[in-house]
Amino acid sequence: MTTALRNTGIEPVGEMPWGTHFCHFYETKDDLLETLLSFFKVGLEAGEFCAWVVSEPLTEEEVWQALDRAVPGLGRYVADQSIEVLKARDVYLAGGEINLHRIISNWSAKLERALSRGYQGIRVSGNTAWLEQKQWRDFMEYETELNRGIGDQPMLVLCTYPLTTCGATEFLDVAGTHQFAVAKRRGRWEVVETPQLTQAKAEIARLNQDLEQRVLERTTELEAAIGDQKRASEALQEAQKALAHVTRLTTISELTASLAHEVNQPLAAIEANATASLCWLDHTPPALDEARQGMQLVIRDAQRAGDVIAHARALVKKSGGEKSLVGVDQMIREVLSLVQPEVQKHAVVVEEALADGLPPVLGDRVRLQQLVLNLIMNGIDAMAEVTSRPRRMLISCERDQGEDGGPGILVAVRDAGVGAAADDLEKLFDPFFTTKRDGLGMGLSIGRSIAEAHGGRLWASRNADHGLTFHLLVPETSNHGLTPSPQ
Ligand code: ADP
Repeated sequence: MTTALRNTGIEPVGEMPWGTHFCHFYETKDDLLETLLSFFKVGLEAGEFCAWVVSEPLTEEEVWQALDRAVPGLGRYVADQSIEVLKARDVYLAGGEINLHRIISNWSAKLERALSRGYQGIRVSGNTAWLEQKQWRDFMEYETELNRGIGDQPMLVLCTYPLTTCGATEFLDVAGTHQFAVAKRRGRWEVVETPQLTQAKAEIARLNQDLEQRVLERTTELEAAIGDQKRASEALQEAQKALAHVTRLTTISELTASLAHEVNQPLAAIEANATASLCWLDHTPPALDEARQGMQLVIRDAQRAGDVIAHARALVKKSGGEKSLVGVDQMIREVLSLVQPEVQKHAVVVEEALADGLPPVLGDRVRLQQLVLNLIMNGIDAMAEVTSRPRRMLISCERDQGEDGGPGILVAVRDAGVGAAADDLEKLFDPFFTTKRDGLGMGLSIGRSIAEAHGGRLWASRNADHGLTFHLLVPETSNHGLTPSPQ
């Protein structure tokens, strides 16, 4: 139910929530008319269905005429049946008796119909001047029942009672069966609150205070959690930096082989200069100055070649990682959390099938992470253009046989990407082989040498439907009293 407050159009009452049942003790016919015209005008304009139940001193005709004067564009509300004016005796005394269940179920049906026609709720007013003494008790029972059941309904009900004919007993009865009462006496409004309403207001004030306190606490909590996120993203950046660093080092170590050609250049120059120097010495008389110059160039180039080799060796040495016991499943989970942003960005669905209780392998945790990270990133890249099927990646790890027939751990990264021709599978592992615009073509070749450095193997196979699966087999090693290294 909507909790928005409804304007009652009655000055001392102001806005009230749906579910309000109150009464008006009126002194004169004009008072009554003025109050109800304002009550219904506001209701019609707020998109509510209105039911005005009339009895003496007003007639239906007088009410329609008064409405026509007071509500601009009344014709529209009449045409779309937003308002009805009903006779009190038809509503309350159908069948000659006051049957509270029948009256209340009629209101419920009216409410249901109004809601299904798109109204926000219904606004009702009924006058009671027709009531005879013998009907009083039955009617009070109806008012009590209505008061009890209206609280959670989108209904606003205003009952009107003539002040002049109300004795003290009636007054107390009416005040007790409504949430509150208003009266206009000698032109001045008075509001009579029942103890229940006073209590309810105090309760609302307490709940409001509670709510404010909870909002305050939640805001503080959230502020502290927005702090946690910052720390997490700093940690992630740190981890990414560490991986990038290792990638660079490993790439350089891998490039050592290709650095040989850098050494070949000075070697060729050495050969040329040494040959030239020999020629100068064979001259008669020997051209000693030229030969000396040539030999100096030989020394310079030899130094350069030595420097290149020393530099490469130093880099290789730096990139060498220490070995520790690595829990492969945990290591894969760490990588997955690192690549999470990429996975989400490319709408890839990653499924994990990581066997429980796998023994750790003795290895270089960071390099193994780098290898798996590259396989996952390659898989994501391979699915970038795929739109006709789900971008599904399956990462599994299980116990298998190692290369030497001993126990091993087999990791598989399966994608549903563009795949590769059977003849090209081995090419993917060649250094500098890449089909990517900004690729290096070193990832798989480095990955294979990491696998081999662990006494294992890295290879690719074509899936029966789409894409490739990369397999990494690492042998288990006997536990040397080490425990898996922490992250
Ligand atoms: P890079 O990613 O820098 O190109 P890699 O060694 O990681 O270097 O990969 C080499 C090449 O192998 C890629 O450019 C790509 O053509 C191919 N490749 C790698 N992984 C996959 C895969 N999962 N599916 C299809 N092709 C792949």
